[in-house]
Amino acid sequence: MDYTCIGVDRNVGRTKGFTLVELLVVIAIIAILAGLIFPVFVSVRRKAKQAPCLSNLRQLGMAIQMYAGDYGGFPVVRIFEGGEGNPYGNWAGCYIYGGVCDLSKGQIYPYVNSASIYLCPSARGVKKNIFPDALPYPLSYSMNALLSYKRIVASASRVGLLIHEDSSTIDDGDFNWMGWAGDPDEGRNQPSNIHNEGTCVVYCDLHAEWQNYDTVIRALTNNDWDPDKH
Ligand SMILES: [Zn+2]
Repeated sequence: MDYTCIGVDRNVGRTKGFTLVELLVVIAIIAILAGLIFPVFVSVRRKAKQAPCLSNLRQLGMAIQMYAGDYGGFPVVRIFEGGEGNPYGNWAGCYIYGGVCDLSKGQIYPYVNSASIYLCPSARGVKKNIFPDALPYPLSYSMNALLSYKRIVASASRVGLLIHEDSSTIDDGDFNWMGWAGDPDEGRNQPSNIHNEGTCVVYCDLHAEWQNYDTVIRALTNNDWDPDKH
C-alpha cells in the first residue's frame, strides 16, 4: 500500500477549504460578535424612536409654560369642562370623552402651530375603540390631572407635566392616574409602555426623559406627581 499517496491527498484536501473545527470556530466567533452587536443595534433603534417623542414633549411643555406666562402663571386646563368661554375644554382641544380632539382649538395651539407634535410617531394610526369609524386619534399625550388650575413650579423636577399615555386609555388629554373617588379602578389612566417597556415624560422643570414603566407606576403610587407634595 502506498502511504505517501494518502498523505498527498490530505494535503490537497487542506488547500480546498476549512476543516470542520475551523468552521465551527468561525461560526462561534460570528455568533459572539452578533450577540454583542445585536443588542446595541436594538437599543439604538429604540432610542431613535424615543427621540421624537421626547422632542414633542419638550415642545408641548414649553408651550404650556409660555401659555402660563401669558395668563398670570396658571397652566392650561387639563380636562374638558365645557361652558362659556371654554367650549373646547382643555390644552389639546378635547371636547368629548373618548372622542376626537380638535387640536387647533386647544389652548396651547397658538404657541406650537403644528398638530404633528401632539402624536408620538410610535403611536401613529391608533384608533379609539369607542368610535371604530373615527379618524385615528391625533393625541398621544396627557396632562397630570393634579396640575389643573395650579401654578407650575419649575423646581418640581419629579412632578410629571405631560406623559405618553397608553393608547388603550387615552381619551381626553387628562392623565387621571388615581381613578374616580367612587371607584379607583374606574377611569384610571395607564402610561404607555410602547417605548422599550417604558414611556416618555416631560416634567414641570421641562426636562423630558424616558421612564421605565414600573418606575412611573411606583412614582404615581407614591404620589410623587402631586405638586402639593413638593
Ligand atoms: Zn412616545
